[in-house]
Amino acid sequence: MQDEVLVLGGGVAGCAASIALARKGRSVTLIERDPTPRHKVCGDFLSGEALEDLHALGIDLASLGAVPIDYVRLAAARRAAEAPLPFRAGSLTRKALHTKLIAEALTAGVRVVRGRSVQSLSRATAYLWQATLDDGATYEAPTAFLATGKHDLHGHGRPKDPHQWVAFKMYYRLSATQTADLADGSELTLYSGGYGGIQPVEDGLANFCCVVKRWYFARAGLRWEGLLAKMQQDCPHLAMRLDGAEPLLNKPIVVTHIPYGYIRRTTEDGLYCIGDQAAVIPSFTGDGMSIALHTARRAAAAYLAREPAQVFQPKLRSAMLLQMRIAQVADHGLTNALARAVLPFCLRVWPGAMRVTARITRVTQPAAVAPPQAFAN
Ligand SMILES: Cc1cc2nc3c(=O)[nH]c(=O)nc-3n(C[C@H](O)[C@H](O)[C@H](O)COP(=O)(O)OP(=O)(O)OC[C@H]3O[C@@H](n4cnc5c(N)ncnc54)[C@H](O)[C@@H]3O)c2cc1C
Repeated sequence: MQDEVLVLGGGVAGCAASIALARKGRSVTLIERDPTPRHKVCGDFLSGEALEDLHALGIDLASLGAVPIDYVRLAAARRAAEAPLPFRAGSLTRKALHTKLIAEALTAGVRVVRGRSVQSLSRATAYLWQATLDDGATYEAPTAFLATGKHDLHGHGRPKDPHQWVAFKMYYRLSATQTADLADGSELTLYSGGYGGIQPVEDGLANFCCVVKRWYFARAGLRWEGLLAKMQQDCPHLAMRLDGAEPLLNKPIVVTHIPYGYIRRTTEDGLYCIGDQAAVIPSFTGDGMSIALHTARRAAAAYLAREPAQVFQPKLRSAMLLQMRIAQVADHGLTNALARAVLPFCLRVWPGAMRVTARITRVTQPAAVAPPQAFAN
């Protein structure tokens, strides 16, 4: 039983940690709430570091149809400016990514329990964690990895979200002109109460994902149709992009209460917290999945090296603190009224500022700026 590990949550972080541990001969049980992979509220942007980590896990993104992303465009009101990314990034739907990650976990020998939700995690004995599932089943192991994402798992509390962020995602088939114009870019559109990202994904489609403060959503009548109209009114560039676009989901996917800026301080013996359970970086950085992969890799290495969780967790926090704080300041600037007033200036300096921001909000610096193997050809 000494080598048994429970991984709670089979998202990016949970799958990555499970694969790493199983490949080192550990007996891993992964518990995931969703019976099958599904679309999630996410910009689907995979940073250079995320591509490297996925490549190291043996995941061939190009074969999954991922789209290379080489530049970022910032659009506010009627203005837009673009800058090349300091690394090659990628874009792939979360459904496709999760399907592949779960398949890799199974191949690595992970015991995957799907369609069951963890209701609680508690101590069975001084040395054993016990996860109780919604069907009453219990699983025990000396070590647990908490990877249940941004929301609270009962008994392992998280701070609330004071801005009451609301995030939406919709897939579109853009018009031929707009598809060609967006090509290998990721666009960030700004509004007074939030921002949105639009970028191509596999199969010639586009993902539009936005996050707004509740007051902005309330002014739009608390309905998606009203919000979409308001965002296009505030940012005509978005209206141009979506002109003639065909929505591909019956309704958008929604998530609320996002605790941006959260970084876990401590943990308990034998409990390694990874992904959004370790830190929730503002979405505009497109770095959440990179953090999920990075924290999973570091936690697995710490566990294998017998580094206690209570030593690992504060070390991880120290390593990420600066970048998290910078990202929060930049996030505040993007949605702040004063910043919008000086927007013409911001757009003039955007290419340079973008390169700097993209670098300093990376939690792991890229080893090289050359295209990762995934898109090397
Ligand atoms: C609006 C928005 C846009 C974003 N855009 C990007 C982007 O473009 N690029 C990027 O890199 N990051 C982005 N992110 C961040 C990224 O989505 C997260 O940081 C990342 O998914 C974290 O990975 P994770 O494995 O910790 O959590 P998740 O990927 O959320 O996985 C958690 C898993 O745990 C499961 N789970 C939860 N509770 C339970 C339970 N009780 N029992 C069992 N299973 C459970 C869930 O079903 C889920 O599969 C965005 C986030 C938001 C909110």
